[in-house]
Amino acid sequence: MNFDDYRGVWVFSEVKDGGIAPVSLELLGAARQLADKRKTHVAGVLIGEEVKHLADTLFAYGADTVYVYDAPIFRHYRTETFMQAMLHCTNKHKPEILLYGATSTGKDLASAVATDLPTGLTADTTILDVEEDTGLLLASRPAFGGNIMATILCKKYRPQMATVRPKVMKALPPDPQRTGEIVEESIDLKEEDVRTKVLEIVRATVKKVRIDEADIIVAGGKGLGSPEGFGLIHRLAQTIGAAVGASRDVVEAGWIEHHHQVGQTGVTVTPKIYFAIGISGAIQHIVGMQNSGLIVAINKDPAAPIFQSSHYGIVGDAFEIVPMLIERFKSE
Ligand code: FAD
Repeated sequence: MNFDDYRGVWVFSEVKDGGIAPVSLELLGAARQLADKRKTHVAGVLIGEEVKHLADTLFAYGADTVYVYDAPIFRHYRTETFMQAMLHCTNKHKPEILLYGATSTGKDLASAVATDLPTGLTADTTILDVEEDTGLLLASRPAFGGNIMATILCKKYRPQMATVRPKVMKALPPDPQRTGEIVEESIDLKEEDVRTKVLEIVRATVKKVRIDEADIIVAGGKGLGSPEGFGLIHRLAQTIGAAVGASRDVVEAGWIEHHHQVGQTGVTVTPKIYFAIGISGAIQHIVGMQNSGLIVAINKDPAAPIFQSSHYGIVGDAFEIVPMLIERFKSE
């Protein structure tokens, strides 16, 4: 394998609800930084049906080139079809680095592509860098229960691939005037050759609280004592129009669904304000909320680790303090 044949930093550009998924725009920002260091280009790979127009969004957010696979066979995401397109594009145009959002689609696709190429894949990356002279990707992620950051290298293969958590990279400010090159590609794939068929898409009836998009999050931990005690978190959240977050122990106790879990095995959040109530502040929780604008912790233990990661700390019983806050906010 001649590494000199491999150039560019690419982003699998996921299409979501008719637009580009926010994580792909964030990854273009990260790709731009890596590409500038390597003095190379940034490319997006766009796969779908009637998606070509979305290339303009990718250019605005930093792509120089967009490879487009636009055909009815790509109407819905299916591992088989998208993987064939990615393999075709990767083998033909040879990127040095290829990034995917760590979404359910990105994780599924990246692992399938990595196996077939074959190459390595660093999953759930939170920090990206590149060695200027060698092009070696330095992809770091929490390891051993979040106690250390591991930097994972792919020394023998190209492209180097990583899935990256949503919300940890920063998108560039969009420039609608920016343009680039569209490369239209196609593969010879017939519907009858694809084993998976999408018969129907059933949307979840329960509206999920998107804590990853909330400006304010009120998160509760085991210190609330019971599902009834956790109701206090819902009441405060409702009073101030916040989303509800939770520690893993609360989720495991069945007090609330998993999509509310903040942390290493939950969601990474960056709200303007994060209330951590009755949460001890384990590292696995902290990694998911430490980039919040303002962190307010309420805990009855003055030595609780959460206070080390908070801007404001209130030492006291949540069952006394939270009702006071609710009353105060109601009167504002
Ligand atoms: P506890 O640690 O039991 O803390 C409860 C806190 O409440 C204490 O600090 C106590 O002083 C305080 N308290 C008690 N009563 C009151 C009161 N009346 N008023 C005020 N304060 C009170 N955890 C996550 O949160 N997210 C993750 O994604 C996650 N991923 C993990 C992945 C791995 C591989 C591992 C090993 C662990 C993971 N954990 C995760 C679990 C994590 O290590 C902790 O166990 C968990 O975060 C603790 O939850 P907690 O703070 O709610 O409970």
